[in-house]
Amino acid sequence: MFALDFGKHYVMLTVVFFFLSTGISNSQIETIYSQYRTSLNQDSCLISDLQYLCDHYGGRVTGSNANLASVDWARDIFNAAGIQADKDAFRMPTLWLGGTTKMQITGKNTVDFSPQAVSKYKTQSGKFSGELVSVGEGDSLSFAENATKIKNAFILVETDLCLDINGLFAEYKHATEVELLAEQYKAAGIIFMASRPKGLLYRFISSKTTELSRPQFVMVREDAKRCIRLLEDAEKLDIRITTQHQEGDAFESYNVIAEIPGSDLADEVIVIGAHLDSWALGTGANDNGCNVAMMLSLARQMKVLAIQPRRTIRFALWNGEEQGYFGSLAYVQQNSTSLDDHRLAISIDIGSGEITGFFTNGRKDLYDIVDNITQRMQDSLVHLNIPIVGTDNYDFMMEGIPNLVGIHKPQLYGINYHASSDTFDKVDTTQLKKNSGMIGEFILRYANQDSIDLPRLTRKEIQQRVIDDHDLDFTLQMFNVWESWKNRERGRVD
Ligand SMILES: [Zn+2]
Repeated sequence: MFALDFGKHYVMLTVVFFFLSTGISNSQIETIYSQYRTSLNQDSCLISDLQYLCDHYGGRVTGSNANLASVDWARDIFNAAGIQADKDAFRMPTLWLGGTTKMQITGKNTVDFSPQAVSKYKTQSGKFSGELVSVGEGDSLSFAENATKIKNAFILVETDLCLDINGLFAEYKHATEVELLAEQYKAAGIIFMASRPKGLLYRFISSKTTELSRPQFVMVREDAKRCIRLLEDAEKLDIRITTQHQEGDAFESYNVIAEIPGSDLADEVIVIGAHLDSWALGTGANDNGCNVAMMLSLARQMKVLAIQPRRTIRFALWNGEEQGYFGSLAYVQQNSTSLDDHRLAISIDIGSGEITGFFTNGRKDLYDIVDNITQRMQDSLVHLNIPIVGTDNYDFMMEGIPNLVGIHKPQLYGINYHASSDTFDKVDTTQLKKNSGMIGEFILRYANQDSIDLPRLTRKEIQQRVIDDHDLDFTLQMFNVWESWKNRERGRVD
């Protein structure tokens, strides 16, 4: 599934082999950038790898057999291309593999029915029951007005339709606000109306990732609307829920880290990564198998063309991302003595829509350098200097390391996010190859700069330039990383 396409590139090998370590002309260097990009644009293995990953392994929740198998598969692909790659072990704090959820609604003047639903991450297995109470969209006024009914009841929360990445962040924010109110008013559990229509279900984490205090579910949008209409008819509804999952203690997972060593500046490191894990309602295609396949292709084509960058490039396939970026956290912990040598960390994690630029994550100095590089490329990229929380750039950002996240056009990402519909057929394979070509050219240009004057930010600078300047406090709470920053468990300590 990942045969190497050496044939047509063979003639270039001797030319390119001496790339950059022996001083060649600017036009020769430009030719190499162009050859690399072309070979990435034409790499059909990018698509066949993705299809294999999605269809043969399926959804890859960290801790599942599918995830473990995909780790070996990815490591073997790097190795088969002649690239050194390792499985780097790390501890995941807790195991939770989603199983089944069954709901039944009963009402005096209503025939019993069973809405379709899934539980949110870390909802404990068990049987639950109680009155179902509508709280509208779950604002504080609605909670206050229904205070006595809410206590020990299951609240049903309306949601807006989610159509794109802005909708996703709005949904996380909304859910966090509702969780805080549910805690205050002592609801027995929370049932969110699905933000996607036509029976689509999806899974995501709550703001208290590993210590959920009450069960939480996502109910099919149409079923939730039916319940709300019945409640508006003054029908009293009771709900019974049986939910069963595989739960366990801390366990070992693996990142796959492949490396192409640099030449004269080999001690300096560029990390580019995508997360291998996914939720398992779908098969993790746009989130994030497509960009895992991109990492494999970037490394393979660099090897095929015998390109040696000046700085070392590490290709990282992270694990444990969906539960809180635990794989990339482990990487910064395991590499704590060499973080000063990390010149850049890039995460590609927003699907297969066209990449239109980079989030430069609160660093104007990085923005300027990135903009300068991309001005020389054949792309009209627009970068945004705002910090993104929610993916594997996080621990690099909070360690003060320059970091980027690719900005994509939404395409089919938002609507299929974490949903049963996130399958291979939703990937824009033509665009994925173009994205790969652009990203490849970019990282190579970045890795070959004469100097990179981007020192790590101190804790004080991170607090000011990343958090305070962008009012990031609530966002950090939304993603359950505020406490660990405050108490110095996570992020730079000085
Ligand atoms: Zn993702």
